[in-house]
Amino acid sequence: MKATLTRNNHSVTVPTGIWMGTQCIGASSGQQFPVVDPATEEVLAHVANAGSAEWMKALDLADGVATTWAAFADRKRSEILTALFHKLTQRADDFARVMSFEMGKPFAEAQGEVAYGAEYFRWFAEEAVRSAGRVNSAPAGTGTIVVTREPVGPVLAITPWNFPLAMATRKIAPALAAGCPIVVKPAAETPLTMLLLGEVIAEVFSEFNVPSGVVSIIPTTGAKDLSQELMADARLKKVTFTGSTPVGKTLVRQSADNLQRSSMELGGNAPFVIDEDADLDLVLTCAMQAKMRNGGEACIAANRFIVHEAIAEEFTTRLTHRMSEVRTGHGLDEGTTLGPIITAKQRDAIAELVDDALACGAQLTVGGKKPEGDGFFYPATVLVNVPAQARILHEEIFGPVATVTTFTCLDDAIARANDTEFGLAAYGFTENIHTAQKLAKELKAGMVGINRGAISDPAAPFGGIKQSGFGREGGTEGIEEYQSIKYIALQ
Ligand code: ADP
Repeated sequence: MKATLTRNNHSVTVPTGIWMGTQCIGASSGQQFPVVDPATEEVLAHVANAGSAEWMKALDLADGVATTWAAFADRKRSEILTALFHKLTQRADDFARVMSFEMGKPFAEAQGEVAYGAEYFRWFAEEAVRSAGRVNSAPAGTGTIVVTREPVGPVLAITPWNFPLAMATRKIAPALAAGCPIVVKPAAETPLTMLLLGEVIAEVFSEFNVPSGVVSIIPTTGAKDLSQELMADARLKKVTFTGSTPVGKTLVRQSADNLQRSSMELGGNAPFVIDEDADLDLVLTCAMQAKMRNGGEACIAANRFIVHEAIAEEFTTRLTHRMSEVRTGHGLDEGTTLGPIITAKQRDAIAELVDDALACGAQLTVGGKKPEGDGFFYPATVLVNVPAQARILHEEIFGPVATVTTFTCLDDAIARANDTEFGLAAYGFTENIHTAQKLAKELKAGMVGINRGAISDPAAPFGGIKQSGFGREGGTEGIEEYQSIKYIALQ
C-alpha cells in the first residue's frame, strides 16, 4: 500500500493505507479515494478510505492501551518524542516534498513547516517531564491540598489541509506527552503527509516497544460519520479540532452527550493595523509574511490592512510592488513563491469575494484575475478603497488577497479591527511604546503581534477567542488540554 510521487527527477514514496496502530492496512470495504495535485489537477495517489469498522477498531485499540501508555515513565515518553523529532527532521525533505505535492505550497515553505511541525515533538518532549501539580496546606488547617494531573484518555484529532503536518504534530505531541492515545483524522485533501508520519511513528514506536494503538491515523472521506460515531462512544474522552467555525460548532454540540473535553482552533479574520509612525520597511516584510505565508491559506493570515491615511499611499504602492513580484507555479518548481489554492471550490470562493468587493466599489492595484489553464491558481491580489459592506472585510479570505482601508484616528482603527466575529490573531505596527501597549491591550484576539508578522511558535499558546474557538496549542498551556486535574485531600 504505497505510492511514489515524482516531479523534476525527485521522488518520494508514501504509504497509502490506514495506520491501525503501527499496522498499515487497507479499508475493509476495499474502497479508496483519490488525492489530487492542486497545481496540475492530476491524481497523485489513491488512499484507503476508512469506514466505521476501521475507526471503531482504532478506538478499541486506543482504549485498550490507554492505561499502559499512561503508565509509561514521563522520561520514556519524553525520549520517544525526542526520537520522533529526530526521525522527522532526518526525513525533512521527504515530508516537504509530499506537502508541496498534495497541498501545493512552495518547497521552501514546506521545509519551514517541517521544521516548525517537528519542533512540537521537541517542545513537548521537554514538557512531558516538566508538567507539575502543587501542594499547599488548607488555610483552615484541615489538611493538605494535593493537585495532580492525569491524562484525559483517548483523544480524537481532526486536522485541516492547510498545514498537513504542523496542525497534527501540535495535537499528537502534547497528547503523547500527557500520556493519551490519539486517533488522527487528516483532511481528505492532504492525507499523505500524515500517512508518512505514520511510518515514522511506527518505526519509533517499535524501537521503544510502545504498544500498537497509541497513535492511529484514519484517512477517510466520511469525516462526519467518523466524528459522530466516535464521539457517541464514551470511551473517547477528548476531541481536538482545527478547521472551520461551523464544523467546530458541530463538534462541540456532539461533545455534549458524553461531555468530552474539546479544543477548537477555528477561523480568523486578522486585522493588521499600521499607525503613521510605523517603520515601513519592517511593515512591508511583516505584511508579506502575515499575508502570503502559505499563500494566505492560514487562519492567522492578515485579512485586513488598516493603514493610517498619512502613509496609506506609500504602503499601498510598496505592497502592490511586492505582490507583483510573487511567482505562481507548482510548489516543486524552481522560483515558485505562490502555489495553487487547495481546490477549485476554494479558489472560486476567493474569486467571489474579490468580485463582490469590486462590485461594492473597491479597486484593484494588482491581481484579481483567475488564470486560464490547469491548476487551481489565484494570483497575489491587492484591493484598495474597500467599502465597509464588502463581504471580504467580514469573511475569512483564505487566499493571497490583501485588502487596504485607511484611518485617521487610532481608536477608530481599533474599533474596526475588532469589528469581526473572529478573534484569533491581530497585528499592530508602531514605533511608539504607548501606541504599542494600547494595540496589545485593545485588539481583541487570542494572539497579538506587535511589529511582528510571523507569530507562530511551539513555545507559545496558539488559540483564539470569540468565534475563533477556545483551547490553546503549544506553550506550557498546550499539554493541559490533554490532562484532567485531580485534587487529593490529605490529612
Ligand atoms: P475547510 O473548509 O478548511 O476544509 P473544514 O472545517 O471543513 O475546513 O475541515 C477541517 C477538517 O474537518 C477536515 O479534516 C475535514 O475533513 C473535517 N470535517 C469536516 N466536516 C466534519 C464533521 N462534520 N465532523 C468531523 N470532521 C469534519
